[in-house]
Amino acid sequence: MKKLVGLLLITALSVANPGHADLKIKGGRFWHGPQKTRMVIDMSDAPNFEVFSLTDPDRLVIDLAQATLGRPLTGPGTQKSPVVQVRTGQPKQGVVRIVLDLDGPVEYQVFALKPSPPYEHRLVLDIFAAQRAATRQVAQANRKDDYLVILDPGHGGEDPGAIGGRGTREKHVALGIARRLERMINRDGRMRAQLTRSGDYYVTLRGRVKFAMKQKADAFISVHADAAQRRAARGSSVYILSKKGASSEMGKWLAKRENASDLAGGVDIGGQEPAIQKALLDMGLDWKVKESKVLARRILNEMQKVGRLHSKRVEQAAFVVLKSVDIPAVLVETGFITNRAEEKALANTLHQERLAGAIFRGLSRYCDADPRCPPSRGEKGVYVVRPGDSLSLIAARVGSTVAALRELNGLHSDVLKVGQKIRVPNA
Ligand SMILES: [Zn+2]
Repeated sequence: MKKLVGLLLITALSVANPGHADLKIKGGRFWHGPQKTRMVIDMSDAPNFEVFSLTDPDRLVIDLAQATLGRPLTGPGTQKSPVVQVRTGQPKQGVVRIVLDLDGPVEYQVFALKPSPPYEHRLVLDIFAAQRAATRQVAQANRKDDYLVILDPGHGGEDPGAIGGRGTREKHVALGIARRLERMINRDGRMRAQLTRSGDYYVTLRGRVKFAMKQKADAFISVHADAAQRRAARGSSVYILSKKGASSEMGKWLAKRENASDLAGGVDIGGQEPAIQKALLDMGLDWKVKESKVLARRILNEMQKVGRLHSKRVEQAAFVVLKSVDIPAVLVETGFITNRAEEKALANTLHQERLAGAIFRGLSRYCDADPRCPPSRGEKGVYVVRPGDSLSLIAARVGSTVAALRELNGLHSDVLKVGQKIRVPNA
């Protein structure tokens, strides 16, 4: 018989307004990550809820008192998840019951979140497949002695990040660029890249930092898109940690851990354990800030070749994701999603390739000068055609144009063969 692991019962949380009889359930959604599946339920008020599990077959049951179901809840979708389907019912007057049919035993965690724009009250249910601890250890054992770059696409899942006038979401842009950058790094041969998130789900800011530290990474690059009230604001910028802010705000950071992103992303504030706080305070900030600045300058230098800069200097701010990683760490704002023209560009895959290419070349230059990084392989100024490549894609990747590549290589056609060597500008 299957058994549920780590049974957690939360009963009868106090209602914000007990006289208020009708809690409206306004909808729900799923986010699927490698570690967990998250179900979020939107509601009009603080919920009075009870969660319990049943076996044969495995189920999770959520009972919401004094509630009505505004509209049917959507299912978990087609992605791999321990949740097979969602059913709703009314076991007794005024109680809405949500039943999640599971494909096996799970561990779970449930918490209510207060309103955080654009969200109203939310109930969050995190569901972990029971064997998750084992897979995590395997991932750690795989760490090789190479140059590891952690790429951190901002936001995700419940946290869309900035939203443009045409509806483009920062979380998608950030992941698109980071994925392209990941491919470039992994193809290069001398470095290796890993993403803090590889899909549309939220990872806490501390979770991102922890991941980089656990992997003993060599560099950290967070990818974002900017937003401003002023629609005219445009251009990209590169940030590093503010040293002044870091030393004086370290304590502040510990208190400020539920910042805007984490609130939107849906973080259980009560459930966080302060595991890495000590390490942060002890680290060698000077070396880190100096190295981060060198890396940021290299990236800025390449970014200005493919687009406008918002700031020609390396900017400094107290970003949580940069604060605690004791390795060179930069945060790249790839453009303003609130600017009409840049929003359009940021959603364009060729432009994403161009931005990723610029960050890659900056990182590559940094790597050339870093004794910790293996020497460059392959011929300088030569690009070997791979499956799926096109002249326009290569041009975007290397920061050139189709016309320039045609001329440089004396090409009369745009047809490429896999393995073909293309000369590229080696600036
Ligand atoms: Zn952002």
